[in-house]
Amino acid sequence: MNSSITLPIKIIGAGLAGSECAWQLAKRGISVELYEMRPKKLTPAHKTGNFAELVCSNSLKSVDPLHPAGILKKEMELLDSLIIKTAKQFALPAGKALAVDREKFSKKITETLNQHSNIKVINEEVKEIPSGTTVIATGPLTSDALTQEIIKITGEKFLYFYDAISPIVYADSINYEKMFFGSRYEDSDDYLNSPLTEQEYYKFWHELVNAEVTNLKDFEKLIFFEACLPIEEMARRGKNTLLYGPLKPIGLKSPFPKKMYAVVQLRRETLDNDSFSMVGFQTRLKWGEQKRVFRLIPGLEEAEFVRFGQMHRNTYINAPKELDIFYRLKKEPNIFLAGQITGVEGYLESAATGLVVALYIYQFLNGEPNPLPFTTALGALGRHLTLSNPKNFQPSGITLGMFLPPSKKMKRKEKAKFVAIRAKKEIEEWIEKVVAKY
Ligand SMILES: Cc1cc2nc3c(=O)[nH]c(=O)nc-3n(C[C@H](O)[C@H](O)[C@H](O)COP(=O)(O)OP(=O)(O)OC[C@H]3O[C@@H](n4cnc5c(N)ncnc54)[C@H](O)[C@@H]3O)c2cc1C
Repeated sequence: MNSSITLPIKIIGAGLAGSECAWQLAKRGISVELYEMRPKKLTPAHKTGNFAELVCSNSLKSVDPLHPAGILKKEMELLDSLIIKTAKQFALPAGKALAVDREKFSKKITETLNQHSNIKVINEEVKEIPSGTTVIATGPLTSDALTQEIIKITGEKFLYFYDAISPIVYADSINYEKMFFGSRYEDSDDYLNSPLTEQEYYKFWHELVNAEVTNLKDFEKLIFFEACLPIEEMARRGKNTLLYGPLKPIGLKSPFPKKMYAVVQLRRETLDNDSFSMVGFQTRLKWGEQKRVFRLIPGLEEAEFVRFGQMHRNTYINAPKELDIFYRLKKEPNIFLAGQITGVEGYLESAATGLVVALYIYQFLNGEPNPLPFTTALGALGRHLTLSNPKNFQPSGITLGMFLPPSKKMKRKEKAKFVAIRAKKEIEEWIEKVVAKY
């Protein structure tokens, strides 16, 4: 046994990454102490004390086997990911996305981890990093005291960007006569669609760009995450920008005679179908303004909101500078980091890094670890985190560009297929060689 790893493994944060990490270790017989500050102390975005709470959208991205997120999911499934199997158990119809009933999903994960004999749950905020092997999985909203502790070790300030949450509306406040069910490019009724005429669209656009937004508490520069721009921010980039983004009027057949110039999509939130989230409508408009502007959308004139959109500061470390390939702090190798705090972006990717960290700890306990090949999706995330240029490091969800490129130039579709086939082969070999051995 490698003496530098000490038991129990202390995991701070029972979010997407911490929950997966705890499960992967516990199921291999490793004792874990799992610290979670909620519900005693909530973050600005979490609402419950449940583990692996999904703070915004309820989607864990694509299941398409040729999509990078689909490849990542397949690899996680092969490794018995708790997040993926629970998500599948509580999946909602959402076309090619894996969307879940967020409450049932998080409750189940909480129960599973609470009941596991190798996991001791400690319901406290961690203000000082404990001694012994520790995994920091406290996410983009890490509490202030712990943030200061991490800064003390790395000597570096955290990087940050702003991320926004989309509103959710009650199903019984929607006027279904003005909307239709259907999925883009697919024959399914997974989404509820509101078609807008040209006149309706430009009125909506005008009100959106002129609506009042919330002020920033501090004087920080406003840095948005490009893949999750607030809708009003996107709208400000041009009168027609939304028509090429979340409101694009393509891939859907409207049953109404009026010409569909734009379309707003809503996705089911719960298995009981009692609420819908507004797809791509993350926003920092003031709450009263959200009510006023979003009620201009046909069918939402009387919408009641389960939750309004909000904006939060996301913090992350400069991973290429601070982390080694095994997700350990270079300056303190007994401390591992997992989840969004490393600079991956998304529920899925956060859970994936929790899984990887558990496997590396397990390998350290049994000898020298074998890093995941950069040809796999799980390895590609590590490649992004540790080999990017630290001068312009940006958080990112999984992309095709993160994988080790094929040796010859290929068109996008051909490359996606090549990468998917290669990843499957290589992850299976790695599991056989590394994981199955123990
Ligand atoms: C506002 C916002 C919206 C987002 N929207 C999406 C989205 O729509 N889709 C998507 O894929 N991703 C989204 N993300 C990004 C990201 O995927 C999620 O934040 C994800 O939950 C990150 O997983 P994690 O495990 O790293 O952190 P989290 O899931 O946040 O888990 C961290 C846990 O640590 C706990 N914690 C923090 N500090 C301490 C402490 N000192 N002691 C003990 N416990 C502590 C927290 O309570 C929390 O439970 C969003 C992020 C934010 C902030």
